[in-house]
Amino acid sequence: SKTAYVRTKPHLNIGTMGHVDHGKTTLTAAITKVLAERGTGTFVPFDRIDRAPEEAARGITINIAHVEYETDTRHYAHVDMPGHADYVKNMVTGAAQLDGAILVVSALDGIMPQTAEHVLLARQVGVDHIVVALNKADGTDDEELIDLVELEVRDLLTAQGYPGDSVPVVRVSGLRALEGDPRWTASIEALLDAVDTYVPMPERYLDAPFLLSVENVLTITGRGTVVTGAVERGTVRVGDRVEVLGAGVETVVTGVETFGKPMEEAQAGDNVALLLRGVPRDAVRRGHVVAAPGSVVPRRRFTAQVYVLSAREGGRTTPVATGYRPQFYIRTADVVGDVDLGSAGVARPGETVEMCVELGREVPLEPGLGFAIREGGRTVGAGTIHSVGS
Ligand code: GDP
Ligand code: MG
Repeated sequence: SKTAYVRTKPHLNIGTMGHVDHGKTTLTAAITKVLAERGTGTFVPFDRIDRAPEEAARGITINIAHVEYETDTRHYAHVDMPGHADYVKNMVTGAAQLDGAILVVSALDGIMPQTAEHVLLARQVGVDHIVVALNKADGTDDEELIDLVELEVRDLLTAQGYPGDSVPVVRVSGLRALEGDPRWTASIEALLDAVDTYVPMPERYLDAPFLLSVENVLTITGRGTVVTGAVERGTVRVGDRVEVLGAGVETVVTGVETFGKPMEEAQAGDNVALLLRGVPRDAVRRGHVVAAPGSVVPRRRFTAQVYVLSAREGGRTTPVATGYRPQFYIRTADVVGDVDLGSAGVARPGETVEMCVELGREVPLEPGLGFAIREGGRTVGAGTIHSVGS
């Protein structure tokens, strides 16, 4: 039988983000290698991270790789994604529930469009702590060039509301560390120390009623239907009764696992798989919510404060008006909704506006919940729910 997961250190969710080819996957592999050598992780080679399984449901496919490792003080689940679209979908839906992020910027190329968009998304979804890895630092002896890139990254972070002057910026080489070069291995250790010390342990709402938004659904032959996702709040154990909102079923959790290891109790912040008794595979989908029975009520209407992305940020070039009907990404759900802009009537790119939204179907909603607005495959807005209607 499988070894059980033993919770000995606080658990945090982090991830690499940044422009394509700046070295996110190489750095992820390098981190696992350095920690495997320290004896607190398992080396995950580049190819295994880059060939992440696709999570497909209702037309949205997200490629996402999860690796786990430990530093001296913490247990981390780390996500890495191959494509920009995967980041957008995953971050805006909050599926990754990142407690902190490693922003990977090539010291040779500097900030690029996706660097800026990921920082914006991180801000919008409430990732409050970013550590910068200035990667590919092995590629130049020109310290002044790297200084300039560092300055540019700090300015970008400041412009997006992060403390750009005090954010840790570590010069690393994922590639050289992966090759075993001692100098660059030390740079990865310095980066991990920065993550350990700079990213605080987030408040976990352990006493709140259990809630998990479904990221993926699988079938385990002979055992039943499994849903995966990050526990947003509360705790869950084998034997607990839960409700699957969206599927309209109530059932019992018959198994709880994290990274393939059974666990006694999953708690807020954990990435888990839950085995659900007697639930047909087809009944549950990405975007459904598994929660303590009666603890949340699905709704269709809400008011929200929304930032309409400017064209420069990859958003629209033209205003939106009442009657606009984009997709809303709320937790892991992707739902169409009708926008009412009230007396203002229109919202221009770059503006922050108040809007009323009526969704095409009910989902659990609550004040403070963040969401993204997408249209034709790109993010055009990001918002926070103010109040919830019927
Ligand atoms: P991603 O798209 O951000 O995940 O980038 P990858 O990890 O796939 O790396 C893109 C390219 O940059 C690959 O050819 C890597 O070998 C190279 N690369 C990654 N990290 C480094 C580094 O630290 N130094 C150098 N010189 N090249 C690197
Ligand atoms: Mg990659």
